[in-house]
Amino acid sequence: MAQTGKKVVVIGSGFGGLGTACLLSKEGYSVTLLEKNEQLGGRAGLLEDGDFRWDMGPSWYLMPDVFEAFFESLGERVEDHLQLERLNPGYRIFFEDGDVVDMTGDLAIDAATFDRYEAGAGEKLREYLRLSEYQYTIAMRDFVPKNYDSYRDFFTRQAIVEGPKLHVLESMDRYVGRFFTHPKLRKIIQYTLVFLGSSPYSTPALYNIMSHVDFNLGVWYPEGGIHEVIQVLARIAKQHGAEIRCNSEVERILVDGGRVVGVQTADGIVEADIVVSNADLHHTETELLQPVDQSLNEKYWNKRTLAPSAFIIYLGLDTTIPHLVHHNLYFCEDWRTNFDSIFKQPSYPDNPSLYICCPSKTDPSVAPAGHENLFILVPVAPGLDDTPEIREQYASHILDLVEEKLKIPGMWDHIISQHIFSINDFASRYNSYKGSALGLAHTLRQSAVWRPNNRSKKVRGLYYVGANTNPGIGMPMCLISAQLVRKRVLYGK
Ligand SMILES: Cc1cc2nc3c(=O)[nH]c(=O)nc-3n(C[C@H](O)[C@H](O)[C@H](O)COP(=O)(O)OP(=O)(O)OC[C@H]3O[C@@H](n4cnc5c(N)ncnc54)[C@H](O)[C@@H]3O)c2cc1C
Repeated sequence: MAQTGKKVVVIGSGFGGLGTACLLSKEGYSVTLLEKNEQLGGRAGLLEDGDFRWDMGPSWYLMPDVFEAFFESLGERVEDHLQLERLNPGYRIFFEDGDVVDMTGDLAIDAATFDRYEAGAGEKLREYLRLSEYQYTIAMRDFVPKNYDSYRDFFTRQAIVEGPKLHVLESMDRYVGRFFTHPKLRKIIQYTLVFLGSSPYSTPALYNIMSHVDFNLGVWYPEGGIHEVIQVLARIAKQHGAEIRCNSEVERILVDGGRVVGVQTADGIVEADIVVSNADLHHTETELLQPVDQSLNEKYWNKRTLAPSAFIIYLGLDTTIPHLVHHNLYFCEDWRTNFDSIFKQPSYPDNPSLYICCPSKTDPSVAPAGHENLFILVPVAPGLDDTPEIREQYASHILDLVEEKLKIPGMWDHIISQHIFSINDFASRYNSYKGSALGLAHTLRQSAVWRPNNRSKKVRGLYYVGANTNPGIGMPMCLISAQLVRKRVLYGK
């Protein structure tokens, strides 16, 4: 590709930042990516302790179609870079009453499982998934991969015809209730919202497209772990000439006459014609820009709904736990109280739903033989007090809970490695606003045209990429967000 002669600085190396570096360097821009941390990947970082390795954040490789399309846009093929395995079961659910159920992604088996809970629910599942697939197709065609500039971009003729079929104005909880009455089935269908950082009581039913993603498209794992994908993106960006620097925190975005001219780091100024910030949007707007250049000031942020933070325990065990699979979910009985403790009355929940990833079930490279590496995640409200004492007490509470509810007696005695990552770490390591794990929640008022634009309203040449802009949270969405920024930079739209 011919060089454009234009210099681009990308701030941050999350999926959105690396994706942008790949796409723009391939278009002939001279790209420099600056990452504040010592390693690449942002939330998709890697933690190592002896022979244990943990993906620090994302662990579900979903929407393989999006990864394929992204690689294709770079002239690459996923299979030339990653060895993917479809997980079966996709995940195992442990209910509080001791009931355990697997979701396999094989519709005949899953429908039979649903029938065991509620007569006719298997057929309802088929119908639900047919609609979900249809809605996914519409959403991915007309709504998701789109730059929004005005309400007209959202309320198109197409949207007015197709929108009602997406159930944009109905809550997930109500929508799902029209299909299934058994509380366990409702939970199975709605747990995917955890990925969107939202509560089923306030998330539009549009997001039932996640069921198509989960059941039909499947749950995948790239050999070596999610951080492998980061390494691949970094390699591709470098092949196209991008320069990638770690330990390079941007302190200020430099603006002259309403146009971006570069960034300031501790090591000096890096000049740029275009700056794409993948750093947390609140941090970018309120800390990297002067007030006069801010499009989204503190007043704006005070009114936003943030997705949860997470209390994460990375554990290395010197034993194996036969009844765990790769992805394990524990659902507490009282969901509403749990969601309220995240969204309405913020506090550390006593009996939370939680997620346990055990990639050593699939990948022998992440833990020594006969050992297990666990990642235990409890969604918690952003902005809670987070002190060493609170961490110690809460970790101990959660480990007791896991021992009891997931029936792993004596687990404590087998812990040979333990690390905690929580609210303050999200804030300090990623500059994440209030230590949210995911960014802006996917409420209706924070989706599509109502989500922050990927172009600064005040500063020409300044763009945003990643989970806080369109389309939103998750690795696939952040790759689409990079494609949307490429469109902006190349075509303005
Ligand atoms: C615990 C957890 C579990 C998740 N699970 C899944 C999952 O299973 N599947 C899935 O698809 N998604 C999952 N997600 C969501 C997904 O990981 C994120 O939406 C996505 O990775 C965010 O990417 P991003 O492009 O927004 O950048 P980020 O990952 O937020 O990276 C931004 C980067 O900018 C850097 N930065 C910040 N400020 C500066 C500065 N001033 N100068 C230089 N650099 C700076 C940060 O250090 C960081 O590296 C999960 C997230 C978390 C936290």
